[in-house]
Amino acid sequence: MSDKQTALVTGANKGLGYEIAAGLGERGYRVAVGARDRARGEAAVQKLQAAGVDAFAVALDVTSDRSVTEAAELIARQEGRLDVLVNNAGISGETGPGWVQDPTTLDLEVVREVVETNVYGVIRVTNALLALLRRSPSPRIVNVSSSVGSLTWQSDPAVDVGPVMAAYSPTKTYLNAVTVHYARQFAGTGILINAACPGLVATDFTGFSGRPAGEAAATPVRLATLPDGGPTGSFFNDDGVVPW
Ligand code: NDP
Repeated sequence: MSDKQTALVTGANKGLGYEIAAGLGERGYRVAVGARDRARGEAAVQKLQAAGVDAFAVALDVTSDRSVTEAAELIARQEGRLDVLVNNAGISGETGPGWVQDPTTLDLEVVREVVETNVYGVIRVTNALLALLRRSPSPRIVNVSSSVGSLTWQSDPAVDVGPVMAAYSPTKTYLNAVTVHYARQFAGTGILINAACPGLVATDFTGFSGRPAGEAAATPVRLATLPDGGPTGSFFNDDGVVPW
């Protein structure tokens, strides 16, 4: 067991999750690198370790009850508690070029898969790790969301939130709503839970258009390391609170 604080980042083998793991590692956290593919997780751990981060791999598919239970058991055995959980793993449901999900022609199987990953996955992982988070003196949970989940922005013609993404965007609205309910349930416990919009980030997700993932990790890392008494149940980007 380590004296350090431990952070679990889901989908940390690449993209934004990898950079959040690196950012927390730089701040002295021991980082559990959640990855659904064991080899990709191990490769990311090696890269993080080479950069001086105290990291270890955790096999974790957020859509699988069994995988999530086994990941929680591994962290319980190895670490005894969890201080930070970053629910980062997510998919767009994009099946072709163009980044358009027309609600009138949506494939419901795609919708199910995106909700299963981006929403149910977060609830499944959070609840499986809650007992370990409660053992931390200052537990923090960050849900990686998106401003495309903001109903205020989506319904304002003056705000450019990109193409119609009728499968993906509502999952982030749902995630933000769930975040509020967790915050209400956690009132008085010391657990802080917030949602973070990283902006448009250059990862596989966007075909590498957007800003560097290292820069975009700043807000999730800040929310993961909030001091006691900090905000909870809110939705932030780099500029502050995002309107819902
Ligand atoms: P990437 O596609 O680069 O990375 C996604 C990560 O999630 C990968 O590690 C992937 O694993 C993992 N993942 C997907 N499904 C599962 C699953 N079932 N179980 C466990 N892990 C899974 O995307 P980003 O880094 O860009 O996205 C990270 C988060 O940021 C997402 O929640 C996304 O919605 C959000 N976001 C991204 C933005 C952007 O512009 N990029 C903007 C706003 C929000 P694998 O390698 O095995 O596929």
